[in-house]
Amino acid sequence: MDATSTLRSIAKEVLARKDVACLLGYEQGSYGFRVAPCVLTSPKEVDRLIFSPLCVHNLTNYLTLENIGLLAGKDIGKGKIAIVVKGCDSRALAMLMAENGIERDKLVVIGVCSPGVADMKKLEKRFPNVVDKAAVALSNGTLKVTCGGKTEEVPADELLSAKCTRCKNKLPVIYDELVGEPEEGRPDDFADVSELEAQNIEAKQQKWQAEFSKCIRCYACRNVCPLCYCSDCVLDRLRPQFVRRSVTYPDNLLFHITRAFHLAGRCIDCGECARVCPQDIPLTELNRKFQKDVKELFEYEAGVDPEAQALFATFRTEDADEGIL
Ligand code: SF4
Ligand code: SF4
Ligand code: SF4
Repeated sequence: MDATSTLRSIAKEVLARKDVACLLGYEQGSYGFRVAPCVLTSPKEVDRLIFSPLCVHNLTNYLTLENIGLLAGKDIGKGKIAIVVKGCDSRALAMLMAENGIERDKLVVIGVCSPGVADMKKLEKRFPNVVDKAAVALSNGTLKVTCGGKTEEVPADELLSAKCTRCKNKLPVIYDELVGEPEEGRPDDFADVSELEAQNIEAKQQKWQAEFSKCIRCYACRNVCPLCYCSDCVLDRLRPQFVRRSVTYPDNLLFHITRAFHLAGRCIDCGECARVCPQDIPLTELNRKFQKDVKELFEYEAGVDPEAQALFATFRTEDADEGIL
């Protein structure tokens, strides 16, 4: 059985349970390569569900945004929420649990051993102006792209999201039900960050000034981030106004530095912020530098170990910053 068939079969059983209120998953979008998040409440709806390399969204975001997201207006009462997660998404669950942002016993986690998802920006550049519904399948390192009545095969590494080319968490770190068998993960040596680190300070300043000057402060990166879930965000405060809303380089810089530090030790490398940025600002590069530093300084990787405490909830006497003591 393919991933979609297995997922539908599991979802049918899960949605038939009396303690489950709804299921968060993916369905075919209305045009082109688009797949949309969906909420199902009945076993009769499971044929809407799909799973493919186009299922790019990290759905865990909806667990903390229930008042404004997909769950708005749904009467889920005290029932559990079933949620479909890829390996990378499951790290967000682990972090949210470590921070008491969500409760484990309110969830049924359907883990999917995803071999990879498409980089939508690369895919839509390679196959532009696709309006009719299109499909993408991945097997043996090849993406089969079907659109406009034709199927084309492309080496997967050309169109996969960068996070998938260095993924070691193809098996979700948390799950109650599992779809598929995990492929072997790849070691992450942070080679991409080393390139950035090799630049001198002037080059780095020029690069980030150019990038942050493009930012239009739409806050899509913050809103899509599963770990940006403070109900009282410092960026929204007006009295006092810590971060001004003007779209200028100094204010944009303050916004990005504030967010990057708030995500330090918490970012789980899902890449959602960079995926949704309309200005193509390479936010992943910044996040990855913080991930590398946190790993080197504290031997900590966010969300990899579901039993681990949050980095900022603990310390060791041998930790790098002497100021802690
Ligand atoms: S990062 Fe890993 S778990 Fe996530 S979609 Fe890519 S290969 Fe799958
Ligand atoms: S999504 Fe991009 S443009 Fe929008 S606030 Fe974030 S960095 Fe700026
Ligand atoms: S900062 Fe970006 S990559 Fe990190 S958890 Fe948030 S959305 Fe994912």
